[in-house]
Amino acid sequence: MEIKEIKAYQCGNCYKLHYYEHLAKECCKPLVCDCGKPRRAGYTICDECIVENDKKRDQERYDRARKVNESEYKVAMLTDGSNFYHDSDEYYEELATNGVLESEYPTWAWGCEEVKFAVDIETSLETAAADMHDEFDDDYIVDREELLVLVSKWNAKQTATSYYVDHGTVVILGK
Ligand SMILES: [Zn+2]
Ligand SMILES: [Zn+2]
Repeated sequence: MEIKEIKAYQCGNCYKLHYYEHLAKECCKPLVCDCGKPRRAGYTICDECIVENDKKRDQERYDRARKVNESEYKVAMLTDGSNFYHDSDEYYEELATNGVLESEYPTWAWGCEEVKFAVDIETSLETAAADMHDEFDDDYIVDREELLVLVSKWNAKQTATSYYVDHGTVVILGK
């Protein structure tokens, strides 16, 4: 076995050895955000800048969003981005429970996107057709219409609904 001498670089602070000079230079250097404040390892910016960026992003979304008065809003749910409420009364009750002062109640909330539970039978048919031989087309399907009518009737019976935040809609609370 041949043994060779190698060159290494040592961090002047913790004395750890590195194969490359640039790594040794970075070794004990504090992690700094572009704004000059320290940042956590694994993050490119500091916690304050993360909060600031979120605020900026929400402000941009707010500016772009259509504004709807609560009384004219047709969807059954509102959201603050993480919690969902049926209306401003429920939202404010929740805030009161959490000790938020009435003077600090928000004047608006995000709208919601409503997704009704339904089976997408057209896509299921396409997927099933794609598994068949190359020349397979709709002509090979017997009673396609019957299936579509049946599933559309069945979908109409479903009552479950899911709600997701809709950043394109701002609901003005209590108006
Ligand atoms: Zn070091
Ligand atoms: Zn920062």
